[in-house]
Amino acid sequence: MSANRQGRRAFLKSAVAGAAAVGASQLPLPAAARSAGQTPVATPGVPHRAFGNAGVPVPILHLGTAQRLDPDYDKVMHRSFAAGVTWFDTALSYGRGASHRAIANFLTQIGRREELWLTSKSHAGRAPRLAQDIDRALDELGSDYLDLYLMHGVDDEGMLEREFLTVGEKLKTAGKTRFFGFSCHDGNVVELMNKAARVGGIDAILFRYNFRRYGDRELNLAIDACHRAGIALLAMKTQGSVPSDLEAVVGFRSRDFTLGQAKLKAVWADERIASICSEIDSVKYVRENVAAARSEKALSAEDSDQLQRLAKLTAGYACNGCKHLCESALAGEVAIAAPLRFLMYAECYGKTDRARELYRAIPSAARDVPADRLAAACAACPQGIDIPARLRRARELLG
Ligand code: SF4
Repeated sequence: MSANRQGRRAFLKSAVAGAAAVGASQLPLPAAARSAGQTPVATPGVPHRAFGNAGVPVPILHLGTAQRLDPDYDKVMHRSFAAGVTWFDTALSYGRGASHRAIANFLTQIGRREELWLTSKSHAGRAPRLAQDIDRALDELGSDYLDLYLMHGVDDEGMLEREFLTVGEKLKTAGKTRFFGFSCHDGNVVELMNKAARVGGIDAILFRYNFRRYGDRELNLAIDACHRAGIALLAMKTQGSVPSDLEAVVGFRSRDFTLGQAKLKAVWADERIASICSEIDSVKYVRENVAAARSEKALSAEDSDQLQRLAKLTAGYACNGCKHLCESALAGEVAIAAPLRFLMYAECYGKTDRARELYRAIPSAARDVPADRLAAACAACPQGIDIPARLRRARELLG
C-alpha cells in the first residue's frame, strides 16, 4: 500500500470519528488552515454524510468541474477546498482533459492528495476501454488512485452486466479506485437504479435530482431500493433551472435562503442523498453553496411551497431527460433530450460555447427533425414541453 493510501486511511479514520453526520463546528480543521508555519484558524467545514454503506463520511457538497478552470491557479477550487468542500468531480471528457490537468496542478499546489476525494468518469461503452481509461485519468490527474470511478452518462442497462461490473471489481482490487459506479442523465434512471440495486457491484450513482422530481413515485421507489442496497446516491442538476426570466415568475422570497440555496436545501432534505455535485463557477457561488450546506435551518413550508409553484409554472421548459418517452414515439434516429439539455446549459448557465460544441456533435439528421414530425413526441411528453419550439430555439442559439 502506498504512503498516500495509508495517509488517506488514517485521515478517513479520524474523519469517521469526528465528522459523520455532525454539525460543522465539530469537524476537523480544514486542510488549508494546517499548512506549515500557520496558526490554525478554526473555520467550520461542511457537514458530512455516510457514503452508502461503505462507512466513509463524505461532504454533503462536492465540486463539479465541467466549467472552465484556471490552469494556473483556480480560485474556485482553492476556496472550495479551504471551506471544506474536499471532494471534486471531474471526467475525461471535461475540457478534453483540461479539467484533469487543472486538478493535477491544484493537487501539486495543496500537496495533500489524501485529503481530497476525487471522482472521474469515462464515456467508454466497452469494458476493455473502461479499464484502460482509468490509467489515462490517473496519468492526467497525477494521482495513483481515484476515490470514485464512474461510467459516464450511462443509458444502456447492458452496462450493468457482469462484463462491466467485473472491471469495477478488478480496478478496486488493483487499488486504482476505491469505489465504482455510474452517472446517468437520461430518463431510464429508474430502470438503471432498480437494476443496480439488484445486481450489486455498484457503489455509487450520480443522477439528476431536484425539487421538480419529488412527487415521482417510480423514482422514489428506485431511490429506496438503492438506499437499502447501500448504494451512495449523489445528486446533480439540482437547480432544475429554466431561463432566469421564467424563474422570476414566482418572485421567490425567503427569510433564510436565496433561490439557489433553497434548491440545494430541498435536495439535502432527502436523507437518502449522500452528497450534491454542484458545478460552482465563481467564488460568490462557493460562498453561497457552502453557506447553504452549513446552515442548520431547514426550508420553511413557505419556501417549499414556492419551489413547488415554480416547478408547476415552468414545467414546460424543464426537460427531465426521459427520452425513452418522446424519442421512441418517433420513427428513425431523433435527438430531443440532448439538444434540450444543451439549450439549458446555454440559456440558464451562459455556457453557450460548451453547449454549441455538444449540440454540433449530434448528427444533424437526428437534431433537425421537421416540426410536423414531432406531434407524437409532444403527446408523449409528461412535462407538456412544446418540443418543436424548444428545438427551434436550440437550433437558433447553438446550430
Ligand atoms: S421532451 Fe419531454 S418526454 Fe422528452 S425527454 Fe424532455 S421531458 Fe422527457
